[in-house]
Amino acid sequence: MTALLQVEDLRVSYGKIEAVKGISFSVEAGQVVTLIGTNGAGKTTTLRTLSGLLKPSGGKIFFEGKPLAEVPAHKIVAMGIAHSPEGRRLFPRLTIEENLQLGAYLRDDKDGIQQDIQRAYDLFPILGERRKQASGTLSGGEQQMLAMGRALMSRPKLLMLDEPSMGLSPIMTQKIMATIAELKSQGTTILLVEQNAQAALSLADQGHVMEVGKIVLSGTGQDLLHDDEVRKAYLGED
Ligand code: ATP
Repeated sequence: MTALLQVEDLRVSYGKIEAVKGISFSVEAGQVVTLIGTNGAGKTTTLRTLSGLLKPSGGKIFFEGKPLAEVPAHKIVAMGIAHSPEGRRLFPRLTIEENLQLGAYLRDDKDGIQQDIQRAYDLFPILGERRKQASGTLSGGEQQMLAMGRALMSRPKLLMLDEPSMGLSPIMTQKIMATIAELKSQGTTILLVEQNAQAALSLADQGHVMEVGKIVLSGTGQDLLHDDEVRKAYLGED
């Protein structure tokens, strides 16, 4: 079986600085795969490259068996990859509902779009209650919900989430992680970048630990959660 996403020896540079130094991993349909690692490890760079926002300097990317490396960003969305970026990048003056509608910009099936907006409100009831509120006035957790809801509006085959727990309280982080688990149970395939290793590994089928541009350790979420090195370096245990 071909993986939904296959990354082979991917390299990405900013000028002379190589931020991603030959990483390989795959994501099977229905899985949650997480990339964890400290600041600057190259996780965001990897997601931005998979979205077509950055060009790889080497290696290969295949999505449903098709090469991705030369495909422009808008076509990548059309192929079925959605990206909820670090920092959320919402349109702050637009309402919740308008932000959700923008997530469906490639679609013209009005009824389907309306159904998916309702699905986002079912997933996150607070968004439905506040649908006419400008997104810039939402709390950090509510903005994260909206960013995820917006990414889902393209009906992606692969949902990429960049640090959904960033800046959130432990309770809000739990809520976001529970929603990721719910999306997985509905069959959504997710590539999750997180600094909160505990939360991410707890729900991931597969995890990869990145350090300065490389994958240094891979395993199932549970294996990594119980790995001594991971516990010391990323879970704050001695
Ligand atoms: P974080 O969790 O802090 O976002 P990360 O693992 O996502 O970390 P990246 O943001 O991918 O890491 O950064 C990887 C490396 O690339 C870092 O050394 C960073 O300084 C560098 N880098 C990122 N963006 C740029 C840029 N636009 N120009 C030059 N260097 C960059």
